[in-house]
Amino acid sequence: MARTPMMAGNWKMNNTIAEAVVLTQEISNQYEKKEWDEAVEIVLCTPFTDLKPAKTVLDFDKVKIKVAAQNVYWEPSGAFTGEISVPMIKEIGCAYSIVGHSERRELFGETDEMVNKKVKALVAEGMGAIVCCGESLAVRDEGTTLEYVTAQVRAALAGLDAAEIAQCVIAYEPIWAIGTGRTATPEQADEVCAAIRETVAEAADAETAEGMRILYGGSMNPGNVDGLMAMENIDGGLVGGASLKAETFVQLIKACL
Ligand code: PGA
Repeated sequence: MARTPMMAGNWKMNNTIAEAVVLTQEISNQYEKKEWDEAVEIVLCTPFTDLKPAKTVLDFDKVKIKVAAQNVYWEPSGAFTGEISVPMIKEIGCAYSIVGHSERRELFGETDEMVNKKVKALVAEGMGAIVCCGESLAVRDEGTTLEYVTAQVRAALAGLDAAEIAQCVIAYEPIWAIGTGRTATPEQADEVCAAIRETVAEAADAETAEGMRILYGGSMNPGNVDGLMAMENIDGGLVGGASLKAETFVQLIKACL
């Protein structure tokens, strides 16, 4: 089954509304309808405050680029000061939310159980989850990367049926490669992505695993994207730094064609 690659920009905590509108407009201006429409799924994961302004620009320009949240809370409403719910991001027109990014796990105490609740809340509303997993340098040096990452994936997908799992995208992001300029080699990344695909087959079935998009994240840039995209089990990227400039992000999109 041919998988449509996904190029997702993770802006993290960057871009005021004014900056977000400029960046979105710059990306949208370079959109090549004929080449990109069917060939690649493009997603901008912006701060909550930028979602509506970015979506407005994209809708006005009639380009097939989606917006997504970087995080979401699992309860639909209530006394949860500071949180944003799935129905709220759905109303704005988000297609996905990132879930379980390593920065959320490390800096904000997100556990596998919380990640699982967030994934369940998203798929229950018919939305997609971009589920992040990835090992630290200590885990890699210990030689237990595959066990560690596949356990994270199993936990994130626990209790979901095959159709719900099919609504997810998985992003493999080795923590030691995020924002460090140090990328996993294509072979290192593909080995883990292959193990993730096997885990999806066990959690759902072979067909769902075959259709699952598995993204690589961690210092992806125009210089290393081709090698990564050439690998059998890598279906796109979740990109931080290189997504903050239209020029580099567009180069990454083109590498998916
Ligand atoms: P990076 O971030 O591309 O800046 O390494 C990737 C991510 O954290 O999603």
